[in-house]
Amino acid sequence: MDLYLFNTLTRKKEKFRPLKDKIVTMYNCGPTVYERPHIGNLRAYIFADTLRRTLEYNGYKVKQIINITDVGHLTSDADTGEDKIEKSAREKRKTAWEIARYFEKLFKEDIKKLNIKTPFKFPRATEHIKEMIELIKILEKKGYTYKISDGIYFDTSKFKNYGELSGLKKKQLLAGARVEFNPEKRNPTDFALWKFSPKDVKRQMEWPSPWGIGFPGWHIECSAMSMKYLGKTIDIHTGGIDHIDVHHTNEIAQSEAATGKKFVNYWLHVNFLRVEGEKMSKSLGNIITLEDIEKRGFHSLAYRYLVLTAHYRSEMNFTWQAMESAQNAYNLLLETISSFKLSVNLHKSASVQRSSVSKEILKIINDDLDTPRLIAKLWEVLRSDEDLGYKKIFVLEADKVLGLKLKEFLQKQKLPAEIKKKILLREKLRREGKWQEADKIREEVLKAGYKVEDTKQGPIIKKVVN
Ligand code: AMP
Ligand code: ZN
Repeated sequence: MDLYLFNTLTRKKEKFRPLKDKIVTMYNCGPTVYERPHIGNLRAYIFADTLRRTLEYNGYKVKQIINITDVGHLTSDADTGEDKIEKSAREKRKTAWEIARYFEKLFKEDIKKLNIKTPFKFPRATEHIKEMIELIKILEKKGYTYKISDGIYFDTSKFKNYGELSGLKKKQLLAGARVEFNPEKRNPTDFALWKFSPKDVKRQMEWPSPWGIGFPGWHIECSAMSMKYLGKTIDIHTGGIDHIDVHHTNEIAQSEAATGKKFVNYWLHVNFLRVEGEKMSKSLGNIITLEDIEKRGFHSLAYRYLVLTAHYRSEMNFTWQAMESAQNAYNLLLETISSFKLSVNLHKSASVQRSSVSKEILKIINDDLDTPRLIAKLWEVLRSDEDLGYKKIFVLEADKVLGLKLKEFLQKQKLPAEIKKKILLREKLRREGKWQEADKIREEVLKAGYKVEDTKQGPIIKKVVN
């Protein structure tokens, strides 16, 4: 079945055709490791993971890179301002290297809790300086660069299709460019490839280069690492919508100027998560992390569930009330599916064609990753009269895409022998019309953590989840 993805480059849902037959190359712009990621950043990686799972569900192998931005991302997109890592190090009285490694570790812990699969590699920018310098040298040779007092810049007027990704004409991009314009730049949209270390302050992260001691620009990092691990042209590159106008626009310009080849075939962007209707920001004091979510007693995977109930291209509004509803829904989901395992010997179930179930799932998910519809369908199936065998297969297949650890939960369920004995006894009592005694047993079983629900097909046993 064909897979359709919305490509920012063409502003259309396009049929996905990989460069190679069975392997997909995918680069996900990684975190800047100066703070613990917030739940908006994490939405971006839940999206990337869902995309990977969808590709895998379609039979592809995915070669995935999530880079670690541990140098060069400045506080302003206009190549002015401080390096976010060095600034955080100063504020937290740690070295830049300590900050970078510590927050990288927290990022990896968070994505693990969210059941995000481990990529092929997590390359660090600081370990690819050589590759970045090589790329800048090529651009220099081809005449795309110029030097000003604070660094080596890319001349965007020399790249014909500059700004294609953002859908804005070059003139509009120029007009919209930041006010904090560096008068030494030839064009407002020109950007730094290599920045010189300042003369007055000693930087902690700096390297020698043919142009002088300094550090790479943030955009060149992604181009260099993407080319190194995935090749000059790749299938998919992702990030948040904030990256479209500057970061990804610049990545395209410098990469295609250097190689003369198309850099990326499909650009996918995830919309923003807001908190109680506001943009998350330090000044508003409304930054929420996965740790905050857990501290309030919610499960990380309930956050993943919440994220998946919104389509990745819609803006999402996080509220604590929505988080609570997601947790309740996730608990109910676990409780409902626990019956598949616990009631299994008490029921007969028809054999189910796995392929017909996966077709149904593909029909939904291959429409630009429609996770909200897949979750709705999952509940529809669970509430239907279909037999448990069918429901079980549907849940297990859907979870390959959703990644909610439903399979793992199911595997852990086991009905303790004494509970099973009680349930069988209760059935006998009910057949004999001894309702009061049967009800008493139901109460006992509930106290032990299991619900018994009587249906036409027999009793259904569920584990109480809260
Ligand atoms: P950064 O660590 O700032 O480089 O961002 C890591 C990823 O998170 C990037 O893909 C951003 O576009 C994305 N991102 C940042 N803020 C949000 C947000 N509020 N909602 C969704 N994605 C975001
Ligand atoms: Zn990037």
